[in-house]
Amino acid sequence: MSQTPNPQGQYFCEQCEARYDESGDCAKCPEEPLLNLLDEDVLLMLQQFDDARWQKRAGLLTMLSGVICAPLLLLVLFVKKIGFVIYGAAMLGLSGAMIKMFPPKRKTPDMGQHI
Ligand SMILES: [Zn+2]
Repeated sequence: MSQTPNPQGQYFCEQCEARYDESGDCAKCPEEPLLNLLDEDVLLMLQQFDDARWQKRAGLLTMLSGVICAPLLLLVLFVKKIGFVIYGAAMLGLSGAMIKMFPPKRKTPDMGQHI
């Protein structure tokens, strides 16, 4: 079977993100079955994968900014509770900025042209 990729195709390879007109296995990825994008369950599953990637990335970056901002915790010695507020705000601001700079990849294809 020779599959030719079609960016508007109905069948999607989760591995390499190629799209094809016919079902079957991906031409490039061995034993990677193509997903039918017109199946709502498939789209839901792809979106869940995307969300999981997003949450993993957000958790990692929040942890990282917590470490980067850790010296701010020294403020607690001088300004007491406000030091925690400043630390929390700096951590959230930094992790938000980092997620914008390094967003996780979203694989779910845009299905606009099929609706
Ligand atoms: Zn593939």
